[in-house]
Amino acid sequence: MTRTMVAIDLETTGLDPSSDAIIEIGAVKFSGDEEIDTFDELINPGRNIPPYVIQLTSINNEMVSKAPSIYAKISELEQFVGNAPIVGHNIQFDLKFLSEYKLFQNNNRIDTMHLAACVLPSAARYSLGSLAMHLEIELPATHRALADAKVTWAIYTKMMSMAKDIPSNIVMELLRLSRMNKDVEWGAQLPLTDLLDEPQKQVSRRTQENRNLYNFDELSPESESLSPRDDDNREELDIPALEAMFSSNGLLSKSKDLKNFEYRAGQVAMMTNVAKALSHPRHLLAEAGTGIGKSLAYLVPAIQWAYTNDERVVVSTNTINLQDQLINKDVPILSEVLDMEFRAVVQKGRGNYICPRRFDKLRERGPNNATEMNVLAKLLVWLTKSKTGDRSEINLSGAGELAVWRQISAEDEKCTGQRCSKDELSGGCPVYRARRAAESAHLVVVNHALLLADVASERRVLPEYKYLIIDEAHHLEDATTMGLSFAARQTDFERLLNNLGSSKSGLLKQLVTRASKRSINQQQIKMDIDEISDSIANVLVHSASFFKALQTFSQYQGSNRNGPYDRRILIKAESRNSSEWASVELVWENLHNTLVTTIDRLIGIRDMVGRDNDEDEEVQSNIVSIIGKLTDFDTRVNGLVTEAQDDQIFWIHLSNDGNMLAIRSAPLNVGPLVQEHLWYEKNAVIMTSATLTTNGGQFSFIRDRLYAEDADEVAIDSPFDYKKSTLLCIPSDVAEPPNKERYQKDLENGIVELCKATNGRALILFTSHAQLRDTAYAIRGKLEKEGVTVYDQAGSASRHQMLTSFKNADKAVLLGTQSFWEGIDVAGASLSVVVIARLPFDVPSDPIIQSRSAAVEQDGQINAFFDYLVPKAIIRFRQGFGRLIRSKKDRGLIVVFDRRVVTKSYGRTFLESLPECKEWRGNLSDLPKTAAMWLNK
Ligand code: SF4
Repeated sequence: MTRTMVAIDLETTGLDPSSDAIIEIGAVKFSGDEEIDTFDELINPGRNIPPYVIQLTSINNEMVSKAPSIYAKISELEQFVGNAPIVGHNIQFDLKFLSEYKLFQNNNRIDTMHLAACVLPSAARYSLGSLAMHLEIELPATHRALADAKVTWAIYTKMMSMAKDIPSNIVMELLRLSRMNKDVEWGAQLPLTDLLDEPQKQVSRRTQENRNLYNFDELSPESESLSPRDDDNREELDIPALEAMFSSNGLLSKSKDLKNFEYRAGQVAMMTNVAKALSHPRHLLAEAGTGIGKSLAYLVPAIQWAYTNDERVVVSTNTINLQDQLINKDVPILSEVLDMEFRAVVQKGRGNYICPRRFDKLRERGPNNATEMNVLAKLLVWLTKSKTGDRSEINLSGAGELAVWRQISAEDEKCTGQRCSKDELSGGCPVYRARRAAESAHLVVVNHALLLADVASERRVLPEYKYLIIDEAHHLEDATTMGLSFAARQTDFERLLNNLGSSKSGLLKQLVTRASKRSINQQQIKMDIDEISDSIANVLVHSASFFKALQTFSQYQGSNRNGPYDRRILIKAESRNSSEWASVELVWENLHNTLVTTIDRLIGIRDMVGRDNDEDEEVQSNIVSIIGKLTDFDTRVNGLVTEAQDDQIFWIHLSNDGNMLAIRSAPLNVGPLVQEHLWYEKNAVIMTSATLTTNGGQFSFIRDRLYAEDADEVAIDSPFDYKKSTLLCIPSDVAEPPNKERYQKDLENGIVELCKATNGRALILFTSHAQLRDTAYAIRGKLEKEGVTVYDQAGSASRHQMLTSFKNADKAVLLGTQSFWEGIDVAGASLSVVVIARLPFDVPSDPIIQSRSAAVEQDGQINAFFDYLVPKAIIRFRQGFGRLIRSKKDRGLIVVFDRRVVTKSYGRTFLESLPECKEWRGNLSDLPKTAAMWLNK
């Protein structure tokens, strides 16, 4: 059916309809592909337009000063729209502003954001501009009302033609769900109804059958588990035969996906070292410079070893990107060229997989709000295609959508993975299937977080393994720290208690209802529940006092100022001598006592409901889960508050606005854990990275941090000729970073002139978001005048989108922090300059850094700065350096805007950690000419 509709968009002075005002209205009336009419008016808001809105929309105060007021345009707009359905992107926002004038209260509404959830569950982002880019719509989303209304129309039309591919049983299920709750206004109802034949439109109230859902075939190798040989019977790897595979006409050269394959001595050296470590077996630290092709160099011997010996090799990565590369690129190449039917899988944490059982429950209950409905839509459509049930295939954005995911993910410690029969779910549970697949796989790819979860849970997560390769191993210490850290926020703790409720609300009410269906003394139930409600009320009172006392203590520690940053207050042994800490201990004792009583009472009523049916089981599981979380909170906090723990770092985290307070802790030293669970327990652990060494090729730092005393070591240089390809530039008249204002000015001017000379093509790496924002603001206008686009991480685009745009642009610069120091792989001229704004030192006041620095000094090492902070920074510095040359043909410059690299004694160690390259030192004013000459040589 082709209807006449109106796509509408507003520009406003801000986000709040009660205090902000409309500055522009754009609308387009259309029928199918045909434009019928447009409405385009600037509106005088009767107040100043804030600068950020002027920057966003290019609508300024002068432009609207002579425009009509909204009142002068209401009836014209009303007439223009009439009774037509209104289409908008996040339409509720526009309609809230228009409802202030009682406009369009009864028109049908279509939200292209909701429609996108059904049609594009895997889109990277759902903003208007992102969807337009995704759908290859040429009209630009400009933040001007009429242009954006037209983009909305184009998006709507394109998505409607795609929506025809959604199976009709899924469309009917979506409509059933969206009609279950009148309070849920979901803007895809009308277009979905249009997709159905007349008789289908009377959607049944019953849940649609699970046809098309839960077919996780990719996780289905039903092969038997591996049965490794015993230690004496393992077959050593044939190293000459493996070397032959890597020769210029060897097996790897035959792969159609390795078109530019060539013999690389470094790759063979890496492979040989890995093969020896597996065969003999030994632990190994292997640094492999950029361009060696280290993933194939370890995968080939690992697969050969596992296949020959019916063993399992686990490969752990820090990032999803590398995990994807291994499983989607490298493994398929090796499946093609190796003459063996090896099995390789990715195993992820339970929280990554959907739990069909919980998902069906949510469908039975129906959505409580539009966010839940949107997530239901994304998941239902996605599940018709997903072969894995793995959340990474779709995009759930924002805290609201992620909270819905948590309700239906398989993250449930009490489920063994076999609770639901295959028949019941017509295709099986993805967690169960993933685990079965891992048990029968020769190669299991995981991330560091899962590897550590396995260690922390005493090997209950991964199938048993004795051979381990850790790639991106320079992250292992941080990943371990994060995996074993603890955080308790006041709000989360209190929400947990509030979820329990009372006999009239929440989980306790459900418990009363379920228990009353059994023959239990009703009077007794009521008494027990009332007692627990009283206990909870007590806990909440003491919790407020406890967190208040922590806040007072923080203020006493000199941290009562609100500022732009969150504050982290380390609890040192001496801090515990203060009277403020004595108050913390006192109120904690009260909280601890009431909490223990509450937990005991909850344990007492936990079994009031049985596990006879799904509802009972659900209530009991939820109570057991809360008991577990409260017990964990009590045990952990009690340990931290009542006595100093030598092996734990303990701090208070206060948000910059003072509204969020959390208790946090992390292990002081992860080395003993790595030693006990990896070095001592596994036959061979191979840790590899492009950056394991510091200080001129020494492994001492990583050895000290990870207790890698007995591991062999090998450092294999990159095959790239840095002397020919790389000019390392250190402007010598730039102010040093401590001289903040002058340094920032020098940096901004230097970047602008440099990027003019190089036509952009630059990646600029920062250590702080604030500096990145300031720099982006200062350079954008100047560079855009020269036709150089500035992409910065502070904007709304995703990392992937920014990278794609940067690669495709003729002239662009990309500004990034943290993750941009690693994993950016842009070969060719698009990335010819890497700017390191300042040496990437950790913040010394960070509690973890502060405590570990102190521990290093206590260990008798000379100086925490030289022995801990500098090596850490060198690893990151080398990662940043590694972004420049990604292929033998690349040529470019590294510009270090931090003069300390030559003026300070430690600076030399940074420079010595880099491969030998050409060096330039001179005045900043000469840098652009030097850069242009180097690139044009
Ligand atoms: S086995 Fe567990 S995770 Fe899988 S569907 Fe059943 S309850 Fe969910």
